[in-house]
This record gives sequence, structure tokens and C-alpha cells, in this order.
Amino acid sequence: MVQEFHVLRCFSCKTFQVHQVKKDKRWRCKLCGEKQSIIKVYGEGTGADCRHHVQKLNMMQGDKQTGADLAAWSTDGQQLSDGARSEEDSLQQVALYWMDVLMLS
Ligand SMILES: [Zn+2]
Repeated sequence: MVQEFHVLRCFSCKTFQVHQVKKDKRWRCKLCGEKQSIIKVYGEGTGADCRHHVQKLNMMQGDKQTGADLAAWSTDGQQLSDGARSEEDSLQQVALYWMDVLMLS
């Protein structure tokens, strides 16, 4: 049986990341360590597939914040201004950094 992975997004730091599919719906963010339940699965498949997908999603996130998506995650509006704080360069670096981290996991 092939191991299945999910592409999940942390509600707190909004980083996309790959997690192994488990019966348990709870997971912990690899970036900020926030414990949370699976709210939305952004993709699924093999580890390689998911890592690829995560790279793209994190890159896209660096390019532009998707308003609808952010609104869905925003409970009090704080996250909206949070999204504007990031400059393209730093986001790209964070994305690249996390790609390395996620590759190793
Ligand atoms: Zn996080």
C-alpha cells in the first residue's frame, strides 16, 4: 500500500505543508508548531506529488494573496492585514527555506 499524504495549510502562519494521512484529524504545523484539526485538504497523493504542490502553493501565496481564501480563514479580520505585511522577497525566501525543511521531513 502506498503511503498517502495531504497538503494542509496552517491557519496560523498560512504555510502550506505536507502531512502523512492519519486517522487522527489533528496535526501540528511544522513551521509554528500550532496544533489544529484538518479543515481543508488542498491536495493529496504521494509524498513527491504533495511536495510539488506545496511548492507551487507557497510560491503563489508569495505572489498574491487570494482574498476569498484569506477571508475564509479570517475570523476577526486580523489575518487580512497580516497578509499585507509580507514583501515579495522575504516571502520567497521563506518559501524556499520551508521547501528545504519539508523535503527533509
Ligand atoms: Zn503554522
